Amino acid sequence: MRVLLGLGGNTGEVRRAFARALGELGAWPGVDRVVGASALYRTRAVGPEQPDFLNMAALVVVSGSLLGFLELCQELERGAGRDRGGESRWGPRPLDLDLLLAEEAVHRGPRLTLPHSHFHERAFALVPAAELVPGWSHPLLGRTVGELAAEALARDPGAVERAARPDHP
Ligand code: AMP
Repeated sequence: MRVLLGLGGNTGEVRRAFARALGELGAWPGVDRVVGASALYRTRAVGPEQPDFLNMAALVVVSGSLLGFLELCQELERGAGRDRGGESRWGPRPLDLDLLLAEEAVHRGPRLTLPHSHFHERAFALVPAAELVPGWSHPLLGRTVGELAAEALARDPGAVERAARPDHP
């Protein structure tokens, strides 16, 4: 199953954390391969005053269970230095990995909700995702990722911009 993954972070070496996470995901036995990665975006933080985030999306072919994949993502977040106990909701974090969509799957469990419950309203998740899967349909809304991204950008045009390359600050 193809899983659309959202990556974000706003503390420490975020680019390095993304690269390491994608490498480690690709090496996990329940993942066939990482088949796509978007550009990096600089996005305004939602929630308390804090530095901008970097965000990107990746498309991952998962052959193991989705809960196992979620657990792997949480392990990678901890490996990047994330401390869920010590951080505030919506607060700064070195690495955040979200399962945004898994093709047409709809799931509502105690640990995993698919589609991700905020995906459809967040420009920072939708805009990178629209690079990879613009024609995928949100299974609960019947709208494509491309349409939802355009609407989110129209609501808040300054929320998301392509990140400068690290060698061109
Ligand atoms: P966050 O602090 O945003 O990383 O939220 C993580 C919590 O959301 C964890 O307890 C997960 O079990 C739960 N969760 C539910 N659905 C998802 C999803 N689609 N992707 C990532 N985390 C999820």
